[in-house]
Amino acid sequence: MEDANGIITLENGHPIAPDFPVIPFIEGDGIGPDIWRAARLVLDAAVAAAYGGRRKIRWKEIFAGEKGFRVTGSYLPPETLAAIKTHVAAIKGPLTTPVGEGFRSINVAIRQQLDLYACVRPVRYIDPVPSPMKHPEAIDMVVFRENTEDLYAGIEWPADSDAAEEVRTFLKSRLGVALPPDSGIGIKPISEKNTKRLVSRAIAYALENGLPSVTLMHKGNIMKYTEGAFRAWGYAVAREVFPAQTITEAALYEQYDGSLPAGKVVIKDRIADMLFQQVLLRPREFSVIATPNLNGDYLSDALAAQVGGLGMAPGANIGDACAVFEATHGTAPKYAGMDKVNPGSLILSGAMLLEYIGWKEAALRIPAALQRTIAQGTVTYDLARQLPGAEKVPCSEFARAIAEKLADG
Ligand code: NAP
Repeated sequence: MEDANGIITLENGHPIAPDFPVIPFIEGDGIGPDIWRAARLVLDAAVAAAYGGRRKIRWKEIFAGEKGFRVTGSYLPPETLAAIKTHVAAIKGPLTTPVGEGFRSINVAIRQQLDLYACVRPVRYIDPVPSPMKHPEAIDMVVFRENTEDLYAGIEWPADSDAAEEVRTFLKSRLGVALPPDSGIGIKPISEKNTKRLVSRAIAYALENGLPSVTLMHKGNIMKYTEGAFRAWGYAVAREVFPAQTITEAALYEQYDGSLPAGKVVIKDRIADMLFQQVLLRPREFSVIATPNLNGDYLSDALAAQVGGLGMAPGANIGDACAVFEATHGTAPKYAGMDKVNPGSLILSGAMLLEYIGWKEAALRIPAALQRTIAQGTVTYDLARQLPGAEKVPCSEFARAIAEKLADG
């Protein structure tokens, strides 16, 4: 499709890409530049392999994080957010966030300001990546983590602040709740609207991809009106929006003796701590998992470890108007500029981007080429230390090996 501006548009929520779309990228801090260079090489090779010269991405650099501050004087310039909105899909490397002090997370700010409410993290095993599991191939899950609220909403005050004192006084005088005077305070909002749109997207994904279940992960036995409400609203949206295509676990056993009728998705729920056990012990029972923000952050890293670590875990932040694709891991500052780390996570996030814009032929080639590269024993340090006999190569060389496989077809 011709489009002089290269602008991706949305039709009924589905992105429609021109043949030469402009896609913004943020290089990222720390290892960001190394993994972005590697990912770009592989993404361009996948598009060329799938479409010849008929389609090509026109990458456009936008700025955030430390480079953003150097170039524009701002860690998150408004032009960056505007460019993501305009171009609908963007990709980013990791950005630094100081712990316990300094500015709030730029990653969280991007997600909140663009209302990218679904953090989507597929976790699949790529043979023969070393894994601590006996049967890592049994893990094939997609985590839908709510991305805009919960304890990540950023509503918190240090123990010695006037605001914390005011909140403590309010709680004591109006609600009869006494807190120790040296308590820092954070607020955990979970809303019906944000829960329902997240769970709705998770169910739609399960239906589109023929997946058997959506599990609502929560800690509702303890946090009844936040996590418990997430569970209740999750079931409610399944009933309201997908009445014919969903069935609860209880109804499945009562009516169908536990065997899922074709075309239906079972909606079940698990308490968070128990789910951590079950994804280890019985991973085949879970396909899509929908969960509030904090649970989702913990679970997706734990699942990533089960299939071989953060170096291979992709992610996307998706809203109704745009999406930002990013690696699950951080900036790994001790490896910055060393051309050393595994770019697999950002490469696979890029494959998700290609799928999002409808370029499935290119997207599908990437995991296959990555798998063949690892299987032939060409790997970065993180995999080499667990794969006896493998050849340890730099980040850039690993990417070149994948790109060559893509070119070979
Ligand atoms: P991290 O950057 O993810 O790194 C932790 C460790 O994970 C590394 O030391 C390395 O392990 C391994 N690792 C991470 N990426 C890897 C890769 N591509 N290939 C191979 N191994 C990899 O976590 P962190 O040290 O906690 O966080 C550093 C900074 O990143 C913080 O400022 C944090 O806020 C930020 N962060 C940003 C994002 C984001 O932008 N979305 C996400 C998470 C964290 P070994 O040392 O064992 O080799």
